[in-house]
Amino acid sequence: MKIILLGPPGAGKGTQAKSISSKYDIPHISTGDIFRKNITEKTPLGVEAKRYMDNGQLVPDSLTIDLVKDRLSHEDCKGGFLLDGFPRTVNQAEALKNFLRNNGENIDCALLIDVPRDFILDRMTGRRVCPACGASYHIKFNPPTNEGKCDLCGQDVIQRKDDNEATVNERLEVYENQTQPLIEYYEKENLLKVVQGTKAINEVFESICSILGSIK
Ligand code: ADP
Ligand code: ADP
Ligand code: ZN
Repeated sequence: MKIILLGPPGAGKGTQAKSISSKYDIPHISTGDIFRKNITEKTPLGVEAKRYMDNGQLVPDSLTIDLVKDRLSHEDCKGGFLLDGFPRTVNQAEALKNFLRNNGENIDCALLIDVPRDFILDRMTGRRVCPACGASYHIKFNPPTNEGKCDLCGQDVIQRKDDNEATVNERLEVYENQTQPLIEYYEKENLLKVVQGTKAINEVFESICSILGSIK
């Protein structure tokens, strides 16, 4: 199964991606996680991407598209994949479509996790993430079992630098201007499915499973 997760920052894409990836046994590919790993390792890509990410802007397509094509060429993507945070522009969506088409493949589903804007600031400012495995927690809505430690790998969880009110507002603007058009794009491609992301995490996951179960 080849799945795209769409939705505003804070919709719960990363949270649901972990569960989908393990249930369907497909790799979870988060462009945000890949960029953050490059930042930690101080690679040239990381240094460049950081300039944009710290300000809530998108990393340019010229850096992002080749990165994803390269990742999708790995052996573990042969049986499907879950893209989280990509595509974020119509240009990226077109590049993805052409890349898959050249390999005789296509996306099975673009799943939008729909969450109104007024939920988002609380979710983002309370978010804590695991720098090692990318797992996402929330101080109120989804705290780790052992305070401050990742449930999956035991690392100390941290607050992302871009999860502050000013940068979140900037990211929401960017989402509305550059990413929201993808909803219509995938609707036209007949690939769009929508799940309400305002319910509890396990209920959202159940809705996602029933949608994915009806696809294949
Ligand atoms: P995204 O990857 O879409 O930016 P995350 O999965 O990181 O979003 O979730 C953003 C924050 O909201 C995290 O702190 C997460 O624990 C919390 N969260 C995710 N889904 C829900 C939900 N259904 N209800 C309440 N909080 C949630
Ligand atoms: P969130 O979980 O809040 O949706 P991400 O971890 O997906 O955030 O992305 C964090 C930042 O990484 C974005 O604000 C952007 O700067 C950069 N980024 C991630 N994916 C992309 C992409 N597909 N195109 C451009 N920039 C991206
Ligand atoms: Zn972890």
